[in-house]
Amino acid sequence: MDYPHSFDVIVVGGGHAGTEAALAAARMGMRTLLLTQNIETLGQMSCNPAIGGIGKGHLVKEVDALGGLMARAIDRAGIQFRILNASKGPAVRATRAQADRQLYRQAVRHALENQENLTLFQQGVEDLIVEGERVAGVVTQMGLRFQAPTVVLTVGTFLGGVIHIGQVNYQGGRAGDPPANALAHRLREMPFRVARLKTGTPPRIDGRSIDYSRLEPQPGDDPAPVFSFLGHTEEHPRQVPCHITYTNSRTHDIIRGGLDRSPMYGGIIEGVGPRYCPSIEDKVVRFAGRDSHQIFVEPEGLDTHEVYPNGISTSLPFDVQIELVRSMTGFENAHITRPGYAIEYDFFDPRDLKPSLETRFVEGLFFAGQINGTTGYEEAAAQGLLAAVNAARRVREQEAWSPRRDEAYLGVLADDLITRGTSEPYRMFTSRAEYRLLLREDNADLRLTPIGRELGLVDDVRWAAFEAKREAIEREQARLESTVLRPRDIDAADAQRVFGQPLTREYRLSELMRRPDVRYDSLMALAVAGPGLQAPAAAEQVAIQAKYAGYIDRQREEIERARRHEDTPLPEGMDYTAVRGLSAEVQEKLNRHAPVTLGQAARIPGITPAAVSLLLVFLKKSS
Ligand code: FAD
Repeated sequence: MDYPHSFDVIVVGGGHAGTEAALAAARMGMRTLLLTQNIETLGQMSCNPAIGGIGKGHLVKEVDALGGLMARAIDRAGIQFRILNASKGPAVRATRAQADRQLYRQAVRHALENQENLTLFQQGVEDLIVEGERVAGVVTQMGLRFQAPTVVLTVGTFLGGVIHIGQVNYQGGRAGDPPANALAHRLREMPFRVARLKTGTPPRIDGRSIDYSRLEPQPGDDPAPVFSFLGHTEEHPRQVPCHITYTNSRTHDIIRGGLDRSPMYGGIIEGVGPRYCPSIEDKVVRFAGRDSHQIFVEPEGLDTHEVYPNGISTSLPFDVQIELVRSMTGFENAHITRPGYAIEYDFFDPRDLKPSLETRFVEGLFFAGQINGTTGYEEAAAQGLLAAVNAARRVREQEAWSPRRDEAYLGVLADDLITRGTSEPYRMFTSRAEYRLLLREDNADLRLTPIGRELGLVDDVRWAAFEAKREAIEREQARLESTVLRPRDIDAADAQRVFGQPLTREYRLSELMRRPDVRYDSLMALAVAGPGLQAPAAAEQVAIQAKYAGYIDRQREEIERARRHEDTPLPEGMDYTAVRGLSAEVQEKLNRHAPVTLGQAARIPGITPAAVSLLLVFLKKSS
C-alpha cells in the first residue's frame, strides 16, 4: 500500500502529553506520526477549562522555555488570566488562565497541522509490535501497521476506562469517547506493574439558568499576564470574569443523603482518587465540620453558555447531582447540560520507567502523561516533551536527557515518579521541589532555553528573543553594579519616597536594589539612576535576582554541597534507626539497602534530599 508507514517516532494519543510529544519530536527533526482516536479531540481538555496554577504554571513555563506549545496555545485561548500568590515571594507565584476550550483545541490543532516532519492520522492503536526486547511499531484497529524504533504512549484515562454516575457505569475513555480496551489488554500481558486510579469531573451548567446577580464576580488581572516567554497580551481573546458561589449545609445534607448510592462509598470504585482535587462527596465526608465550600463558576468559552462549576466534581447519582447543584445560591434553577462522573482507568507504575520515561522492559517504548499515574494537563505536557526528547535521542543513538531536581520542576516530576512511584493521582506543587527559589516561573527560560537550544527544541525566533533578553539583563546588572548614587545626587523628598529615609553615604545601585522595600521602577524613575530596562520581563528578572541574591546563593551552595558529598562514605553496618528526624519508612529503606556512600543513599527510591541532609548532620555529629 502506498502510504507512509515507517517513522522515527510514533506518538499514540492526541491529548496534552501526546501533542506536546509529537511537536517536540518533529521539532528535533524526527519523522513523527501522531496517531489518535479522533482528530477532532486533539488538545481536548477532559476536565476543567484552565491551564496553570501553583506548581502547574511552573511546568507550563518550562515546557515553553523548551520550545513547547502549551503556553503559546493558552495565550491565544485564555479568557481570564491571573497571577496566584501575587503578594507572596516569586518562588510560589504562579500564572493561571481560564481557557475557551474550543479556542484551545484550535490553537493546538493549528500548531500540529503546521509542524514540519509531523504526520497526523486518526486511528485507535490496538497492539504494539515488539521484536525481542525492542518496540518496532504499532497496529491500529483497522489492522494498519506503522513501524518505528520508538513509540510514545500517551493514552490518558482511556486504558480499560469505566465511567461511573451513581450506580450506573459503562465503558468509556472519557465522556463521549470509547475506551482503549484492546491496548489495555495487550499492555497487561507485559511485565509492567498495573493498578487502577480514578478521577472525576463536575456536572456542567447552562449559564442562562444561573442568577449571576447573586454571585460574587472574580475578574482577571489587569493588565492580563501572558504565559509564553514569546507571548503578548494582545494575543489574548476577549477577557471575561469568573464568579464565586458556595455550597451550604443543605447541599451537604443532600450529599450525605446520596452517599449510599455513591459508587465511591458503595465500594463499586476501587481506584484511588486525587487527594488534592477531591470530589464534593469526599470533601463533605472528610471535612465533616465545614458547612460550606467555595465553588468557582468558570465559563467554558466565549461562544457557549456552558459553565464549569469548579469544586463540585462528583459521581453521585444524577438525581442527587440536580438537587445539590440547585441548593447553591444563584443555582436555584440551574439546568445541567452534562452530568458529573468519575472514571476509573489503568495506570502503570512509573517505577518501571527510566528517568528518560523509557520503559525498563521494552526498549524504545516510552510512557507519558496520565498513563504514569499523574493528573493534569500540565504534568502530561511536560512528560510528553521529555519522553519525545528521549525518543529522538534514542533514534540518534545519543545519551538520554533528564533535568536534575535543581534544574526544573520537570526534573522533580520525573524523579518523583520513577523513584517513588505513586499510589494516588500525582499532581505538581511547589512544595515538591527542594530548590524552589531557583525553580521560579519567571526564570524558566534562563534555566532551560539554552538546554532546549542544544537539544534541538528551540527555533531561531525563540533563541534570538531569549538572547536579547539575557543580554539586556546582564548589561543592566553590570550597570547597577557600577553606578554609584551619592547623597548629593538626590533630594531629600525623593530619597524619602524611594528609600523611606535619606541616603547617608554613597551606594551602588545594586546595593540599593537589594533593600527589600526598594522597587526597581521607583529607583529607575530617579533621573540619576534611570531609565533602566523597559521590557517588563527583563526588568522583573533584574529586580528578583537582586532582591533574592543572598537566598539564591545559599541554595546554590546547598546543591554544590550535596554534589560534593556524593562520595562521602557511610559506616558499614550503620543502624539508621539511630538517625533522628528520619521517618520510619526511610530508616527501614536505608537499613535494607545498606548504601555505601551518601550518593548511593540519595538514589534509593523514596530517600528525599531532606533525608540526605539529616544523614549529613548525623555523620558530622558522630565524626
Ligand atoms: P488525555 O488528555 O486523556 O489524552 C489521551 C489521548 O489519547 C486522547 O486524545 C485519546 O483519544 C487518545 N487515545 C486513547 N487511547 C488511544 C488509542 N488506543 N489509540 C490512539 N489514541 C488513543 N486533571 C486534573 O488536573 N484535575 C482534575 O480534577 C481532573 N479531573 C478529570 C476528570 C475526568 C473525568 C477526566 C477524564 C480527566 C480528569 N483530569 C483531571 C485529568 C486530565 O484530563 C488529564 O490529566 C490529562 O488530560 C492527561 O493528559 P494525557 O495526554 O495523558 O491524556
